[in-house]
Amino acid sequence: RVGRNLHPQGSTVRIGDVVFGAKDFVVIAGPCAVESQELLDEAARAVAKSGARVLRGGAFKPRTSPDSFQGHGLDGIAMLRRTATEFNLPFVTEVMSAPMVHELEERVDAFQIGARNMQNFALLEAVGRTKIPVLLKRNFGATLSEWLMAAEYIAKGGNDQIILCERGIRSFGQETRFTMDIAGAMWAKERTHLPVIVDPSHAIGIPTLLAGAVAATAAAGLDGAMVEVHPQPNRALCDADQALTPHEFDALMAAVTPVAHAV
Ligand code: PEP
Ligand code: MN
Repeated sequence: RVGRNLHPQGSTVRIGDVVFGAKDFVVIAGPCAVESQELLDEAARAVAKSGARVLRGGAFKPRTSPDSFQGHGLDGIAMLRRTATEFNLPFVTEVMSAPMVHELEERVDAFQIGARNMQNFALLEAVGRTKIPVLLKRNFGATLSEWLMAAEYIAKGGNDQIILCERGIRSFGQETRFTMDIAGAMWAKERTHLPVIVDPSHAIGIPTLLAGAVAATAAAGLDGAMVEVHPQPNRALCDADQALTPHEFDALMAAVTPVAHAV
């Protein structure tokens, strides 16, 4: 169902009216978490101006510690809708459990399945029964085949609007947050008909390295990238160390655009 043999030319996935898997290299950007309407507006205004086409932001946050900020839940979803409408950007946001799929189905433009839920099979089946596009992150301990099998769970339910997202795997180093497996992402693109993007924010975690990583993703012929941007990264409630300022994101887009156009 997701094998390249089914669509040798590759398939496209739409989030709102933004198309992944066609010619354009599409950048998704926004804060790790939805914190307030004002901060979300500020982030959206900035990333749209710099050329991002889809907004991101977590309302339900799968935090390592139960004592960390868990997100604003449905209030956060409502904020995403307001900001998305105002700035004319569709949005993607994480859904963490199967029962929530039904509740969010009418309220989001795309579901994100986070790395930690890549093999939450009930969740995969639940999003597979919807018509909502799904951004499926690779778990940091998953093989490429396990990642594609997770996509098969979604497709088996009838939803083939799936974008694969490489977000870094565990290797032995601690210097970068995870290891960005660009070759793995290229392999997934070759073996499936699905659009494949990379999330260098979580994969690398070091703001100064992100522009090069996104340019490499574009040069590799992949379909896009997702980048965390916060108006004031040092005050972010989640992933403060890795978010770009709007100014840094603008510089990233300026560096990446000529590479994306050259491919
Ligand atoms: C996120 O995108 O904010 C996130 C939680 O990512 P991951 O699931 O890849 O850790
Ligand atoms: Mn994050």
